[in-house]
Amino acid sequence: MIYFRKPIEGIERPQMEADVTIVGGGPAGMACALRLAQLIDKHNRRHPDSQLSKDNIYVLEKAREVGQHNLSGAVLDPRAMDELLSGWRDEAPLDAQVERESFYYLTEKKAYRAPMMPPPMRDHGNYIISINRFVKWLSEKVEQAGITVFTGFAGADLRFDGDRLASVITDDKGVDKTGQKKSNFEPGYELKSKITILAEGTRGSLTKQLVGKFNLDKNRNPQTYGVGVKELWEVPSGRVRKGEVILTLGWPLTTKEYGGSWLYGAKDNLVSLGYVTGLDYADPRLDPQRVLQQWKRHPHIATLLEGGKMIRYGAKSIPYGGWFSMPQLAGNGWMIVGDSAGFLNSQRLKGIHLAIKSGMLAAEAAYEALVANNFSAKQLKSFKEKVDASWIKDELWEVRNFHQGFENGLIHGLFHTALQQLTGGRGLHAVYTMHAGHRRMKHLDQLPADGGAEARVLGNAKGDGRLSFDKLTDLYHSGTKHEEDQPSHLVIHDTNICNTRCVTEFGNPCQHFCPANVYEMEEASDTPSGKRIHLNPSNCVHCKTCDIMDPYEIITWVPPEGGGGPNYDGM
Ligand code: SF4
Repeated sequence: MIYFRKPIEGIERPQMEADVTIVGGGPAGMACALRLAQLIDKHNRRHPDSQLSKDNIYVLEKAREVGQHNLSGAVLDPRAMDELLSGWRDEAPLDAQVERESFYYLTEKKAYRAPMMPPPMRDHGNYIISINRFVKWLSEKVEQAGITVFTGFAGADLRFDGDRLASVITDDKGVDKTGQKKSNFEPGYELKSKITILAEGTRGSLTKQLVGKFNLDKNRNPQTYGVGVKELWEVPSGRVRKGEVILTLGWPLTTKEYGGSWLYGAKDNLVSLGYVTGLDYADPRLDPQRVLQQWKRHPHIATLLEGGKMIRYGAKSIPYGGWFSMPQLAGNGWMIVGDSAGFLNSQRLKGIHLAIKSGMLAAEAAYEALVANNFSAKQLKSFKEKVDASWIKDELWEVRNFHQGFENGLIHGLFHTALQQLTGGRGLHAVYTMHAGHRRMKHLDQLPADGGAEARVLGNAKGDGRLSFDKLTDLYHSGTKHEEDQPSHLVIHDTNICNTRCVTEFGNPCQHFCPANVYEMEEASDTPSGKRIHLNPSNCVHCKTCDIMDPYEIITWVPPEGGGGPNYDGM
């Protein structure tokens, strides 16, 4: 029997009062905290008689240390940072400024270089950063500004007072595998907040709860996602220059799937690379970790990596849906920012600057609410108004139909992109509709038994141990660690479906789409299919792909005991 993680009911919890609780210490959450501190400082200088306090503003971060769950591999558009902090370029950990860029279309043996970088993808002047070190640096600024950051605390549940979001419950610590309290049990806190800002990253578990409770995605396109499987390599000098960006489209995916790769030259011969696979593919046997391994074997890529060493591994899902997939952004006592709300430009594959800016705008709305002592939906809707009046809207509006145009494959997608570029982002329709990615997965009996053209990316990678790796080898390089004796934080609402219908209909795609080998089907004599789901939750790298791509929608990712997860420290 598998026990699943949930806050223990009916116990007394320590209570804390908060003016603002920010759940998530990534770029959006940290920018939000810092901007709020700046606004309060400015207010206090101007209004000595009506001081605002920063004492009751908290950031909750589930990792043991800030940045630990953020793996290198980012290009930062500096626009939002320029607005947040003057002089930041002299202080922030920036690996390199982008000076050299190329874009290739890959076939099995060849790489066709585009004569020029497609304008939306140009990165010249942007910065290659270690997101781990960048976020850590930002958190120091937040703490220097007088805001408390609690690390190792995950937001586990929400409590409501009527239609008002009243509190965040943090994770219970010291609960064993069967859900019983251990001797070191500590109940999670109840943080009663005037305003809660959800900055949990893609597919946040509290955000999902909130969106579901109030139907916040009504009349929107469903959110769609990709999963970026990444590695960090140390390569021989001269292979990839510091400040070089290489992007590719095509092989090993076919023209039916959505995806592409990146390779960024950071400092000290470190190269961040990865392949983002759209989580809307048809074949349940497709494995995004294998896609990355195949891509590295392409002659053009292999030449760059030969003789190098893989030093880190990770995975992260990203929201692709864009403007028409964003849920309602604010309500009674709450706001949603960053990847949690879908602030990402999928054409540029960039979200950090949008996450930072959305956090800043939420901070402005929160500050105004504190001054007015009004935390209602009517007051906080100013966040959405600020987003609409900002360059976030200008940028996302231009690409509002971009990802939807690829719903029928690459060729259609390129046609729609060209048309959208000629019509200011509109294309053939004012609003292109979209289907949720997991709904596009087909039953095995509708697919060629040998996998057809996709065969090369189906099933788990074996790896040669030099250039390509199997999942467990990759996983070892993620530094992932969890408390072993705790209930599973991958909540499967009906394991019977896994052991029966899913075996025959989809062949248990969780074994493939999870980049960390969390899901396995073991032999069982007591199930009709002869198989039973087995979980290795302590392998989880927190990418949320299972929550997104499970075709029956029976998996919910919730945070494990705070502090657990991958460890990308210093990378
Ligand atoms: Fe990602 Fe889910 Fe696997 Fe964890 S269990 S690594 S969230 S797919």
